Amino acid sequence: MKGLLFDIKRFAVNDGPGIRVTYFLKGCPLSCAWCHNPESIVPGKSEMRRIRRVGEKEFVSNEIVGREYSSEELLEVAVRERPFIEESGGGVTFSGGEPLLQADFLLGSLMLFRQAGYHTVVDTSGYAPPDILKQIVPYTSLFLYDIKHIDSGRHREATGVTNTLILDNLNLLLDAGSDITVRIPVLPSFNSDSESMNAIRNYLMPLRGNGLRDISLIPYHASGRGKYEKLGREYGYGNFGSPEPQYMEKLKQQFRDSGFRVVDY
Ligand code: SF4
Repeated sequence: MKGLLFDIKRFAVNDGPGIRVTYFLKGCPLSCAWCHNPESIVPGKSEMRRIRRVGEKEFVSNEIVGREYSSEELLEVAVRERPFIEESGGGVTFSGGEPLLQADFLLGSLMLFRQAGYHTVVDTSGYAPPDILKQIVPYTSLFLYDIKHIDSGRHREATGVTNTLILDNLNLLLDAGSDITVRIPVLPSFNSDSESMNAIRNYLMPLRGNGLRDISLIPYHASGRGKYEKLGREYGYGNFGSPEPQYMEKLKQQFRDSGFRVVDY
């Protein structure tokens, strides 16, 4: 069976421990206003404008986003990077989009990589049927699990879905004994205020324990903004800068003071 990917990143250092190969699977059930990979959201192949400028001239063509790979082809990529992966305590990461949207392909790939001795990470929005999530648990070394907002109404306004399933699935994974790093994107005018961050921290504190020890705070950046024009879409999030480093450090310290380890991925 084949899966549809929109990118593969070698030497990835922000997608789990060590140096990794990250596979970006296409398709996502959410539609976050700030998404910096908007070309990933549509399941199936899609088109994006490619603009090349030579001097005064502009050349516009359409590029296809999405290419099919078998799990074995993905493994071949990692095998070439294996010395770096092993030396750094790294592995492979399945990201997206939402990798669980291609559940059968993801499961088959995870089984193959684990059989070959790789540390496997699944980077997920948590918005997936619980039965599917349970199937991948035995083959997933670590989940990078996004929590965006505790207020379900605010969550729906900005992402298109409520957070009920996401929070339920977080508890399901912890009950199943999974290792989880919760990733919190810090987003101006959405969740970067103290009240929203405190709500997330207060929700997570009772869950702290064996499986949930690490938190990662990811500052918003507008790097995906230019892609919206190429997709013929409007960037609906607004004109925000990244949160100040001092503010990010303050948030990190609050999580440390609450007993979490703060990591950089
Ligand atoms: S969950 Fe991630 S990939 Fe999906 S829309 Fe949101 S930011 Fe984009």
